Amino acid sequence: MCSEKFGKREIYTLAESRTNKAGQFNVIVNGEGSDLSKTDALKGRAKRKTITQVMMLKLISVAQNEGEPELEKAYWNTYYCQQNLFTSDGRLYGKYCKNRFCTLCCSIRKAEMINKYHPVLKKWKEPFFLTLTVKSCKAEQLSRYIKKFIQGFQRITEKHRKRYQRGKGKKLIGIRSLECNFNPVRKTYNPHFHIITKDKETAEILLSEWLKLWTPKFAKRPAQNIQKVTELKTGLIEIIKYGSKIFTEPDLKNRKNQKDTAQIYVKALNIILTAMKGKRIFDRFGFNLPKATNITQIPAKLLSYYNEWEYDMTSADWVNVMTGEKLSGYELPSYLNSILENNINDSIL
Ligand SMILES: [Zn+2]
Repeated sequence: MCSEKFGKREIYTLAESRTNKAGQFNVIVNGEGSDLSKTDALKGRAKRKTITQVMMLKLISVAQNEGEPELEKAYWNTYYCQQNLFTSDGRLYGKYCKNRFCTLCCSIRKAEMINKYHPVLKKWKEPFFLTLTVKSCKAEQLSRYIKKFIQGFQRITEKHRKRYQRGKGKKLIGIRSLECNFNPVRKTYNPHFHIITKDKETAEILLSEWLKLWTPKFAKRPAQNIQKVTELKTGLIEIIKYGSKIFTEPDLKNRKNQKDTAQIYVKALNIILTAMKGKRIFDRFGFNLPKATNITQIPAKLLSYYNEWEYDMTSADWVNVMTGEKLSGYELPSYLNSILENNINDSIL
C-alpha cells in the first residue's frame, strides 16, 4: 500500500474544454505522461488494471454490506483509476486515484520510493533486516494492535533519540513497513513490521525494546527475525513491496501451479484496510532524505489531437473509443482469469 503522497509530476489531472477540433474535445493533461512504445509496461498496466477492477467490485460490496460509505467511495475511486486514457505524440496520459490499495498507483509509487531510498541506504555499511511481530489477533482487536504497533515503535525511536541528544546512547536509523497477514484456518491476523536498520546494533536495540514493550505474553523472541542484509536492492524492494502487498501478493504471477489453492479473502482484506486507514504504513526513522532538486512542475498541456481509450473489463484492455482497437494487446492468461473468477473468497469468515 502506498502511504506517502505522489510526486507532483506523477499526478495527471484531466479536464475537458468545450472547444471542438477534429471532432473531438480538447483535453488538458498534467504531467509528462508515459512512453507509449513500452509495450511490456503497457501490458503490465492492463494486467494490474484488470486485477484491481475485479478486486474493487468485491471490496465495494463488502463495504456496502458493512456500512462503510467512506471506504466504499475510496474503492470506487480506485475502480475508476486510469479508466480513460489519452494518447498523443507517443505519450500516454491518465488520471490516478492515488489510493494506497491501488495496484496501478502503487507500482508507480514503488519505483519512486526505490529511486529515493536506494541512494541513501547503499551508503549504510552493515544494514540489517528485522521482522517484529506479536501473537496473532482476532479481527476486532486488529485496529488496536496496529495503533500500538505504530505508537509503540515511535516511542522506542523517540526515547533513543532523546538519549542520543543528551550524549548517551545511539540514534536509531532505518526504514520500516507495516504488513498484516491473514490466517484463513485460524481466522486470525498477524500484523508485523519489516525493517531495514543502518547497522546491527540498531536492530538489536529495536528487538529488545520490542520484546519489552509487548511483554512475553504477546511477543516471544523466536517469532522475531534478525539477519544481515545481503542484497540491499532486493531487500529494499521487498520492504517497499510489503507496503503495497495487498494485490500483488499472493503473487498472482507465480501461482500457476497453485491455482487451486490460491485464495484472496476479500473480507479479511477489508478488515486490514479498515484497521490501517490513515496510518503510516511505510516510514523512515532517524534520518531525512536529501532535498529533491528537480521539483519543477511540468505545465499543463492542451491536447487537440489525441486518441481516447476506455478500459473494458471483458477485453482486459483499454479500447479505442472511436475505432474499437485495443491499446496494449494484453491477453488475460487463463490461470489468472480462473483465480479472479473462482478464488476470490468473499464468504463470511
Ligand atoms: Zn490508482
